[in-house]
Amino acid sequence: MIDLPTLKPTKELPKENKYPRRKTRPVNVGGIQIGGDAPIAVQTMTKTKTADVKATVEQIARCVDAGADIVRVTVNTKEASESIGEIVKASPVPIVADIHFNYMFAIKSLEAGVAKVRINPGNIGKEERIRKVLSKAKERNVPIRIGVNSGSLEKDLLDKYGYPTDEALYESAMRHVEIAHKYGFEDLVVSVKSTSVPLMISAYRLIAERTDIPLHLGVTEAGTFKTGVIKSAVGIGSLLAEGIGDTIRVSLTDEPEREVEVGKEILRSLGFAQRNVEIISCPTCGRLDVDLFAIVGELEEMTKDIKKPVKVSILGCAVNGPGEAADADIGIAASKGKGLLFKKGEAIRHVKEDEIVQAVYDEIMAFEPEH
Ligand code: SF4
Repeated sequence: MIDLPTLKPTKELPKENKYPRRKTRPVNVGGIQIGGDAPIAVQTMTKTKTADVKATVEQIARCVDAGADIVRVTVNTKEASESIGEIVKASPVPIVADIHFNYMFAIKSLEAGVAKVRINPGNIGKEERIRKVLSKAKERNVPIRIGVNSGSLEKDLLDKYGYPTDEALYESAMRHVEIAHKYGFEDLVVSVKSTSVPLMISAYRLIAERTDIPLHLGVTEAGTFKTGVIKSAVGIGSLLAEGIGDTIRVSLTDEPEREVEVGKEILRSLGFAQRNVEIISCPTCGRLDVDLFAIVGELEEMTKDIKKPVKVSILGCAVNGPGEAADADIGIAASKGKGLLFKKGEAIRHVKEDEIVQAVYDEIMAFEPEH
């Protein structure tokens, strides 16, 4: 019998997030509340041709599987405006119509049953067109997102500010908020996205300080997976940590379901969403005596669909292994060709290197989370 230490957690980890949220006016997007005290909703946008209903609906299903709460679809052509109704009917989550240039597509989308419309103030045109969209949205009880983008600001604002600034983004959004208010329309969400992380952070802060409108956060055209994930995590994450943000969309030059996965991970990292299996692993170093990359990779793949909150720590040696294992539900502190298995901080037994993955997996399956 090996004499194993019993470890107690070294620190209290927060059970729920500790970031107080900014108070916002709630809006209802097809049964999903945005703002107020609702959980932060994760959105994405389809990348198929909207007129291809089958491909679009299949893509929406993959996004929903990944955890999307709401999906946006471009309505950019006559064919798209004729297909959106069918997509709305087939989608398990609320659909948002994304509108640029042609206000009639917004009207048609509303008539087809979309749950929200996004309009871009920089290109939607005259006030009379906006009034018509607002009037139809009010009739259908559907909110509007005023989605400002630093790349498509109105010309007069670019002339006034010289280039896209935080105040220019704020003014563009508020100009359209005021138009909406003038016609008695208050069911609004605002976004002030930019490819520049400091600019979007600063612009969102202005809206947050000066209004109670719910905010849709995003870094626009954030780039390919690696760059986009980092920019989004920094931009969206910084604001969320300040309590700003009611719904998020990560923009990547990649599949939309990956945008959702990253969005969910940003929320989890701040404690805004429940984790499933969370694997904590060390970066490894010269002290390592097992193939930790392979162990962690295999375990991550095996547990990716398990829907229960279990914190698992897999560390390469005894330097931090037992300490991290004490804070985790299940842990491994590896040593030469084997690992010491911990459960709730208590060392259970040694496991041979080639049995670590299965042993941890079995413990995860048997684990009963506290409620
Ligand atoms: Fe290196 Fe051990 Fe730290 Fe992993 S836990 S990085 S192997 S010292």
